[in-house]
Amino acid sequence: MSIKEIFTTMEYGSAPESTVASQQWLAQRQHTFEHYIDGQWQPSESKQYFESKNPANMQLLAKVADGSSADVDQAVKAANKAQKQWQSIGGHERAKYLYALARQIQKHSRLFSVLESLDNGKPIRESRDIDIPLVARHFYYHAGWAQLMDSEFPGFQPLGVVGQIIPWNFPLLMLAWKVAPALAMGNTVILKPAEFTSATAVLFAQICAEIDLPKGVFNLILGDGKAGQAIVEHADIAKIAFTGSTDVGRLIRKATAGSGKKLSLELGGKSAFVVFEDADLDSVVEGIIDAIWFNQGQVCCAGSRLLMQESIAEKLTAKITARMNKLVVGDSMEKGIDMGAVVDQSQLDTIKRMVALGVEEGATLHQSTCILPADGCFYPPTLLTNVEPASTVAQQEIFGPVLVAMTFRTPAEAVEVANNSRYGLAASVWSENINLALDVAPKIKAGAVWINCTNMFDASAGFGGYRESGFGREGGKEGLYEYIQESWLANLSTKTPAGKKPQAKTAATTSGTIDRTAKLYIGGKQVRPDNGYSLPVYDFAGQHIAELPDGSRKDIRNAVEAANKARGWTGSTAHNRAQVLYFIGENLSARSEEFAKRIVQLSGKSPADARAEIDLAVNRIFSSAAWADKYDGQIHSPPQRIVTLAMKEAVGNLAIVAPEEGGFLAMISTIMPAIAMGNRVIFVPSAQSALLATDFYQVLNTSDLPSGVINIITGNRDALTDTLAKHYDIDGFWYWGSAAGSKLVEFESAASMKRTWVNNGKYFDWQSTQQGEGELFLRKAVEIKNIWVPYGA
Ligand code: NDP
Repeated sequence: MSIKEIFTTMEYGSAPESTVASQQWLAQRQHTFEHYIDGQWQPSESKQYFESKNPANMQLLAKVADGSSADVDQAVKAANKAQKQWQSIGGHERAKYLYALARQIQKHSRLFSVLESLDNGKPIRESRDIDIPLVARHFYYHAGWAQLMDSEFPGFQPLGVVGQIIPWNFPLLMLAWKVAPALAMGNTVILKPAEFTSATAVLFAQICAEIDLPKGVFNLILGDGKAGQAIVEHADIAKIAFTGSTDVGRLIRKATAGSGKKLSLELGGKSAFVVFEDADLDSVVEGIIDAIWFNQGQVCCAGSRLLMQESIAEKLTAKITARMNKLVVGDSMEKGIDMGAVVDQSQLDTIKRMVALGVEEGATLHQSTCILPADGCFYPPTLLTNVEPASTVAQQEIFGPVLVAMTFRTPAEAVEVANNSRYGLAASVWSENINLALDVAPKIKAGAVWINCTNMFDASAGFGGYRESGFGREGGKEGLYEYIQESWLANLSTKTPAGKKPQAKTAATTSGTIDRTAKLYIGGKQVRPDNGYSLPVYDFAGQHIAELPDGSRKDIRNAVEAANKARGWTGSTAHNRAQVLYFIGENLSARSEEFAKRIVQLSGKSPADARAEIDLAVNRIFSSAAWADKYDGQIHSPPQRIVTLAMKEAVGNLAIVAPEEGGFLAMISTIMPAIAMGNRVIFVPSAQSALLATDFYQVLNTSDLPSGVINIITGNRDALTDTLAKHYDIDGFWYWGSAAGSKLVEFESAASMKRTWVNNGKYFDWQSTQQGEGELFLRKAVEIKNIWVPYGA
């Protein structure tokens, strides 16, 4: 092409990245990837391999060891052996290793970038400028947390051996998000990359060897879903961290139910990209490119649902289609391309199928006129307009370069449509009116909200979902709690603190005085149970003293409905909530004699002990009131001109099933922090304190607590637990009870991805300040949303 022609057409020339170093590296490894276990490279026990190809040209990159449960078992043994020493060398020593990893990643950054793009198909520009620098940043950032662990997390300890399973869309970045915090906090790791993309994980293992990371601290198991499953099911793994599809996440939730394994799930998304009429539309168009055509749209938090204010919809659609036609799709090694290859033929087929379905359901198809390479897995940038919010393409993740567009009229409608999704990973809000943007952002149910920007990530800010996008955070201080636990929590016993299990009441005669008829407490009213049944209540001596409603599924449904109507509590100020809690404390204190008598009657405690329990309960209420306006958010400082507001938001509707042994004190200790953080509670008291719970209504009724914030359902705990766990509109579940009950709660919660906190049949000491109140309860009562606000004129 002559210079004149170049000036006339302004076409980009070819600017390919060299693959020489990567090819040499692959040749050194004889185009064969093996497991890295206990500091050694090893073939699979089965000696089986599968092929990994470059999706841009389908050329073979390497044969990959196909991991089995025997390989996983060997890796877990090595990780277990290494863990105590890795923990005991202390934060500073671990920091030095993490720092060395960060330096080594930077020194080999181009090799990492090229390998990543060859393996995944993503543009070299993205792996070079985004993925790999962020990987190094994660190791530097977490080297810092290793250094600070002892001073910042006193009383905490690592979990032990951690199993980590990652997808193919950001192979090395997902590794860094998981490995860096786990190692920093003193855990050892078994990591399984996705079968399509093992290359950079192998290079990372090589670097671990080069920096002399102690053997067994990082172990790499290659393979497909079978290897992942073997990790999930291994008895000696203390925690599973998973990123991938919601379907597999749900399987993992069920497989780990009742095992005591800690779990974090970063799953799919269908994130809203909300554009108001006053937005800078040219910036919006560039934002859309980053939101949906970055990494070929294979991004869990891709802004795949475009919500346009009706008045600008036509103009914006025209701008998007014009810009879309200018995008260049090509080989991942070309520096001038905007989009590379989709990861695999199977993924390409899924995208084609979903788009065809969208058109069938009535959407209008706009596709870039760009020329696609003849070979390889390529798909053009695509926009679907006239999409109904309920249609398949608006609800299901496509995981490809396909944007679906809808319109809205008012900000309230924008929020409603944005939240019309089972997912809740991220959202972008575009408006030049910062007041509007900051009003809308907290109302969108998503773990990250980007204002006038999109797809921003940093090690300092936690990332993770609401709803079926999973739970747990990666990054920031909030993400570290996924890899540590309070030492007392790790050492809980299956025996009560007093050394005996709570006594079951013996059935007694129904003679004696029935002093009153207690009812359920739903929506601020005392109501009779729907089924019209009651259960007898006995005092400590086995004397029949009252009847309690036998609450059922219908009552739970009513309670959830009442809790939904009490959303105003969640939106109220922390100061207001604190005032109500203080008032509850004051009113309980005023009736302490009456409550103490009831405790004596039900538990057989001495009057002095009963008084002490009430005093401690009032004290706990005051603690929760005190925390209500102090357990507040944080501002993270990523290395851009952005402030990231880490806001603590209530989980929502929270089911609490109280411990059988903790009496009135446990009831107060669990409900109060939950409502202090803005949750609405559906509470099932223990049989022993159920009557006290019904006495407690009187206190609530006189304390200005809005109706529906606390709902109390008495009855058969196991049946009520089952109903609560299966209820779709309950967001979180705290359960203290048997190991079998804990398992049921975790298993059944998988359907709607509730945030669960269960005791696995172990006992808390509710008298202890350490175990009965404080930050642990508050942390479980909130989710962190990070709102990214760029600044600068
Ligand atoms: P998967 O959820 O199937 O895979 C994620 C990881 O889990 C991979 O390492 C996979 O192994 C492993 N895995 C698969 N089955 C099991 C199992 N039963 N137990 C334990 N681990 C298992 O996602 P895919 O890669 O198959 O992608 C499918 C869809 O998932 C995409 O179309 C997209 O919608 C979504 N997805 C979401 C991502 C996100 O970041 N939220 C990332 C990637 C995909 P292997 O793949 O090696 O067989």
